[in-house]
Amino acid sequence: MNARLIARVALDVPRSGLFDFALPDATDADIGRLAIVPWGPRESAAVILDITSQTDVPAAKLRMVAHVHRDWPALSAADLALFRFCAGYYHHALGPVILNAVPPRLRSARPLVSKPSRLFALTPAGHARLAEPGRARALHRVLEDVAAGLTAEETLRARHAGWSAKAMTLIADGLVEARPIEAEMPARHVTLVPGPALNADQRAAAEAIDGAAGQFATLLLDGVTGSGKTEVYLQAMARALARGAQVLVLMPEINLTPQFLQHLATRLEGARVTALHSALNATERCERFLDAALGRSDVVIGTRLAVFTPMPRLGLVIVDEEHDASFKQQEGLRYSARDVAVVRAKQLGCPVVLGSATPSLETLANAARGRCQTLHLPVRANPAATLPKIELVDLEQERVRDGLSARMIDAVRETLAQGEQALLFINRRGFAPALVCTQCGHIPQCRRCSARLVFHRGDRRLKCHHCGDTARVPEACEECKSIVVVAMGEGTERIEGALARLFPEARIARADRDTVRRRGDMERFIERVRAREVDLLVGTQMLSKGHDFPQLTLAGVINADGAMFSADFRASERLVAQLMQVAGRAGRAERPGRVLIQTRFVQHPFYRAVVAHDYAGFAQLALEERRAAHLPPFARLALLRAEGRDAARVEQFMLAARASAQQVQASIDGAQRSAIDLWDPVPATLARKAGFERRQLMVQSASRTALQSFLAQWMPALDALKHGGVRWIVDVDPIDI
Ligand code: ADP
Ligand code: ZN
Ligand code: ZN
Repeated sequence: MNARLIARVALDVPRSGLFDFALPDATDADIGRLAIVPWGPRESAAVILDITSQTDVPAAKLRMVAHVHRDWPALSAADLALFRFCAGYYHHALGPVILNAVPPRLRSARPLVSKPSRLFALTPAGHARLAEPGRARALHRVLEDVAAGLTAEETLRARHAGWSAKAMTLIADGLVEARPIEAEMPARHVTLVPGPALNADQRAAAEAIDGAAGQFATLLLDGVTGSGKTEVYLQAMARALARGAQVLVLMPEINLTPQFLQHLATRLEGARVTALHSALNATERCERFLDAALGRSDVVIGTRLAVFTPMPRLGLVIVDEEHDASFKQQEGLRYSARDVAVVRAKQLGCPVVLGSATPSLETLANAARGRCQTLHLPVRANPAATLPKIELVDLEQERVRDGLSARMIDAVRETLAQGEQALLFINRRGFAPALVCTQCGHIPQCRRCSARLVFHRGDRRLKCHHCGDTARVPEACEECKSIVVVAMGEGTERIEGALARLFPEARIARADRDTVRRRGDMERFIERVRAREVDLLVGTQMLSKGHDFPQLTLAGVINADGAMFSADFRASERLVAQLMQVAGRAGRAERPGRVLIQTRFVQHPFYRAVVAHDYAGFAQLALEERRAAHLPPFARLALLRAEGRDAARVEQFMLAARASAQQVQASIDGAQRSAIDLWDPVPATLARKAGFERRQLMVQSASRTALQSFLAQWMPALDALKHGGVRWIVDVDPIDI
């Protein structure tokens, strides 16, 4: 009998170790392979982490592995090392960490993986044709798919009627080439199609990234909006690809990927690009995952989950808009994709580029400590484009109607008169954030959350933006029966309506979660703006990021003051970043841009910094505040979040959790003990959500090591607590406080 017959596997079950199963024909090559094992009356996906001959499970109880997926690549030692880091650092069970990063199809007992027979790629002629959308629509759509990374024959066949004839035409016309699939296809020859001549700063940045090849280095690409970071990425990518490396690009939002994909398709000739994001269907996700894992794709571009994509030749990691909060996963494994990207680069020994016009204070502090090298792009790359002029509109002095001051209205009018586009930015969707009774002051609240209901005039409903609950618009006040109820404050709908009344000839388009819901909605919106089918844009933060609108010269911010005085110490950083991003949308081409920000706090130093385009100045002030308050990046935080339907039970749990934390702390000796600071349990900012009472407890430490060793002892103590009906999670490096 084979002496090595036990597979130690991790399963998708919370807080647990490894489980032993018999696997008679096991070899070390099975380590990292996905498998199916019997689990209770059912089967469960598993990942094999060790092969051994010893087990404590009695022979009678030892069950057999049902199936090992040997026809797919195993997760490499490097992949497993990254998962182990995440499990340790975020104090999460290893099984769920690994299995959640694997496409669902690969976790099922009978995965439907198409075995693509051929892969398609664009030829240089195909690339050229891509830029001529007018010709032969149906064939052009195939080219677009191939450019977007849908390269497998099976996928293309499913998406295009009359596929065989189309494939033959495209091949005969020399627009695509087909090749049989082999595992670990070698790197292809990639050429960078020349773009604008790089300026000196861009060239220096690209060279610095190139010079870091083959070793770990964190490089901060700190470039103002419009400074041409994309060109730097393309240069750095082309050079990495030329060395045979794979490149991983992380973007905060799926909406930004099509724009970047377009750049890759037209500029990186020969590169096989794979896009990974949450809007893919199960088959696409699985196919693309395997493409990356087999080394068939040269570039993987995706949102945060893509950070875990197996890439055997990974040699360069790029995190665009590194400051963006959406890199932090807010449920399950609460990882920061940016931080994990840096760890991955460190483990692999390759450079990681963090790009932003408004770097996070964490990254700036790392730069100040010499942990990362800063590459500056201080001016807009297009020599004709200058930074927009930013002005504050003092709401203490100026009256507004429907949220718009006279100066804002004038600015919009002037912009329209010049045939240019304006963007009005407001951080709330709906018509008004509250309905108020003028008699008694009553404001309708969500039944299930500690939040006000937002008035949506379009569909005449009150909606809760936290749980999605809706209610009828009351005909009279629920409290005093008065019928004089007014909409207080403004959201995107109200601004859109006011603009329509003021500028009846203008073509207005709104972008918020009510109008941009489905896949492709945002792309269509962007196309309409770029095609000049829109004069005025109204939108939420989804319009603040990354988009390049050459005709847009005015950006107006309706009111953003709320964030300045939020309980969340990161709110002001997010606001300033957002304002600078919004400002970055204006005047990106030849025409100068203008930005108007309506505020009650024109003297606030943060707003002064925004007006001066002085993000570095803001960052310095904010970092001083953080240092004085012992907050990140000068301290490490972990947040225990608990919720349950019964407030008393949640309260009880929190008290017990705090007591156990104090015990753990008391057992630590000397300096380490005083390095841990326990706060009192408090209600979460949203104290009730969808009927759940929410409480939190902060643990703070000046030392990451001290915090980590504290958590390592506290977690088992928390596990052992009675928590009837209370769900809890520890969030390491939380970003929403
Ligand atoms: P960022 O991502 O830094 O905000 P982009 O990469 O979108 O900026 O570039 C802004 C604009 O400047 C784009 O239209 C781009 O084509 C243009 N651009 C980039 N580099 C140069 C250059 N060296 N010379 C002229 N224009 C450039
Ligand atoms: Zn009333
Ligand atoms: Zn609600």
